[in-house]
Amino acid sequence: MAIKSVGVIGAGQMGNGITHVIALAGYDVHLNDISEERIEAALATINGNMSRQVGSGKITEKDKKAALGRIMPTAKLDGLGSVDLIIESATEKEDVKRQIFEDLCPLIKEDAILASNTSSISITRLAASTDRPERFIGLHFMNPVPLMELVEVIRGIATDEETYKTSKAFIDTLDKTVTVAEDFPAFIVNRILLPMINEAVYVLYEGVGSVEAIDTAMRLGAHHPMGPLELADFIGLDTCLSVMQVLYEGLADTKYRPCPLLVKYVEAGWLGRKTSRGFYDYSGEKPVPTR
Ligand code: NAD
Repeated sequence: MAIKSVGVIGAGQMGNGITHVIALAGYDVHLNDISEERIEAALATINGNMSRQVGSGKITEKDKKAALGRIMPTAKLDGLGSVDLIIESATEKEDVKRQIFEDLCPLIKEDAILASNTSSISITRLAASTDRPERFIGLHFMNPVPLMELVEVIRGIATDEETYKTSKAFIDTLDKTVTVAEDFPAFIVNRILLPMINEAVYVLYEGVGSVEAIDTAMRLGAHHPMGPLELADFIGLDTCLSVMQVLYEGLADTKYRPCPLLVKYVEAGWLGRKTSRGFYDYSGEKPVPTR
């Protein structure tokens, strides 16, 4: 089966990046969100990011115009009735995702492939909440999608070979590299990355170092392009917490206990860049550490 058109559910930071690369690769994309404002904001972000790519010579103005013309905003799930592949990239909460699949399945083509961009939730369990576990797969894009080379592909226990092959061939056309992970909590990238971020929050919580000291230490001492707290703000502290909870509960090991300070930030609504405040305050010209 060849993919010709794609639906993306969730127009947040990941949904807009996924839509961006898929539209540039020549596919029609139907972009859905429960919030029409988020769809509008995503279209503006995609426009801005593509203009930057035109400015740096990566794409032409003609490519940009054609790609933007392929994106169809759709406020209702029934707008996805004709697509071949649907990539769910809504909020990292299992009940939200399950509800989406429950509402979506009766509306889409029988042979459409369903994918989730979840950072951590079991693909097998999400698949089991649909009418097509054999045509369900994890396609985990990295943030920011237009710049990052990798897509982690996760097969649930029921995912069939054709779904895997079709999905892999589709990702190849986006000029991304596939790495295959088994379906265990948080897969490969976040199983390794998130405990490091959580440990950085513990280091802050225990007063071992300030936000600036921790990020400088890891940038200059370990050659990470971003410090772990800067990266946490970039990912979204709610998403970081959800991934730690999935690891903690899924592997039943106390080493994955989410840091209480991370929990407190999320409870305060300080979710990082997307709310202009997390471990840094983003309201001014330059980010200012908050601790
Ligand atoms: P986000 O908060 O920026 O966006 C989530 C979007 O989902 C919002 O626009 C929200 O309105 C929408 N949404 C919520 N419920 C919905 C529903 N019922 N129907 C349609 N839309 C709905 O979050 P994000 O960072 O874009 O994360 C989205 C997904 O991508 C999550 O599963 C996350 O784990 C995964 N992911 C995130 C990152 C990252 O670095 N942030 C990286 C890889 C994967």
